[in-house]
Amino acid sequence: MNDNIAHLLSKLETGLLINGEWGPSSSGETLEVLNPATGEVITTIASATATDAQRAFDAACHAQEKWQKTPPRQRAEILRRAFDLVGKRTEDFATLMTLEMGKPLAEARGEVTYGGEFLRWFGEQGVRHHGITGETPEGNLRIQTVRRPVGPCFLVTPWNFPLAMATRKIAPAIAAGCVMVLKPAKQTPLTSLYLAQTLMEAGLPAGVLNVVCGQSASAISDPIMSDPRLRKISFTGSTGVGKALLKTAADNVLRTSMELGGNAPFLVFEDADIDEAIQGAMIAKMRNIGEACTAANRFLIHESIAAEFSEKLTAALEALVVGNGLDEGTTCGPLIDERAVENMEALIDDAVRAGSTVLTGGQRGEGNGNFFLPTVLKDVPRSARVFREEIFGPIAPITTFATEAEALELANDTEFGLASYLFTQNHSRIQRVSEQLEFGMVGINTGAISNAAVPFGGIKQSGMGREGGVEGLDDYTTLQYLGIKNPYC
Ligand code: NAP
Repeated sequence: MNDNIAHLLSKLETGLLINGEWGPSSSGETLEVLNPATGEVITTIASATATDAQRAFDAACHAQEKWQKTPPRQRAEILRRAFDLVGKRTEDFATLMTLEMGKPLAEARGEVTYGGEFLRWFGEQGVRHHGITGETPEGNLRIQTVRRPVGPCFLVTPWNFPLAMATRKIAPAIAAGCVMVLKPAKQTPLTSLYLAQTLMEAGLPAGVLNVVCGQSASAISDPIMSDPRLRKISFTGSTGVGKALLKTAADNVLRTSMELGGNAPFLVFEDADIDEAIQGAMIAKMRNIGEACTAANRFLIHESIAAEFSEKLTAALEALVVGNGLDEGTTCGPLIDERAVENMEALIDDAVRAGSTVLTGGQRGEGNGNFFLPTVLKDVPRSARVFREEIFGPIAPITTFATEAEALELANDTEFGLASYLFTQNHSRIQRVSEQLEFGMVGINTGAISNAAVPFGGIKQSGMGREGGVEGLDDYTTLQYLGIKNPYC
């Protein structure tokens, strides 16, 4: 470990954040955080118990009343200061993310920009989040609507975007006047702890944000989810866990935001600019080592250009440098754990048995880390697991189509509905095809669709609710309608 990393870790809080205080777990238990590029322990953090989770939630509830009465401008200024601090600490945040998650440093820096932007965006949105005024057609009532904070929130985040998934929830909650408990993924808690530290330095009052992470996710979530004071759960993660949380949420009729799995089709029509499509494919597939819910999961390519597209994509993937994300030359880091590597092997075996051919990759990379070589598969039938399941790794399966109708039918043949991508130079086709794609988001001639200003989210089993954009703040408020008797009636 070099001196800079040792210094960074020495200033990092590794306890539980409850009511503005950092402290150990009530059981004294700790959790090791591993570096997926080396298998080494980066550091240990406090591992929360159910008692700690309850204490964290009690602290949040205690802070709610005062926090919601804090003027929007004050809340916004805390977010703005946090945005500035995150920007100044770009190298620290990026290093932590690369250490615990594996993504190359350049991508981690990109996530600091993207994730930090939610702090600024929601600070700006929070001071102009108004209801409406009007009157009934009969003239008997004046109508007023006001947006009120939804109340105490439970925020659960995944390991793949340790900063952005946290700020995308925390920032609108702060802007709206909600208090919260954040439970980061146990594989990548360090970035969230550093973010919490940064928000406290930016002036966030004690109890507004509480952070607990631990060996057992359910030990933390059970007491909070069953507490009648909870008003909202916002979850980003797998569809399986999301469904389980939705069932529990029904007991207390909670507001839910679910950002779940994806199976994005990447359609390239015969009139597309193929080089532009390759550029888009490299982002949509390889950003975050393929471990993104928006990752292109199925390349659906018109049969007349499939050979050229496959050849160019293979060359582009072969040019990537697989290695430790901390090495500046690395463009493809390790997968999160050994289980993910084994899953890549199983998916490829299954596709080959179903008749696909491996054009490049198809095996583990060298070294002690969880490395897997970027892989292109061609002739992938829709029965193959790679076609039907979320891959979450560097495998690009190619399937061909002959007509627009067939392309759409293949694209929509999934229970997921998060991101999709469409490459064509034909404007009426852009309109026609995107209107028929059953996905919450469509990237048109681009592989990069994430931004703080966009309503990010899915349909079907990819979830409900939107994060970011104008809508991302609505999800942390409830609309109250006041009916005021017209004094002239
Ligand atoms: P995961 O296993 O579902 O875990 C996500 C989070 O849920 C983690 O914090 C995890 O904690 C927690 N969790 C697990 N079981 C729980 C329970 N019983 N109660 C409460 N929390 C529980 O997903 P993942 O493997 O971390 O992330 C990958 C998935 O996230 C993919 O499917 C991906 O598509 C999805 N994702 C979606 C979006 C989106 O915006 N739609 C964005 C990013 C990722 P532990 O870490 O302690 O297990």
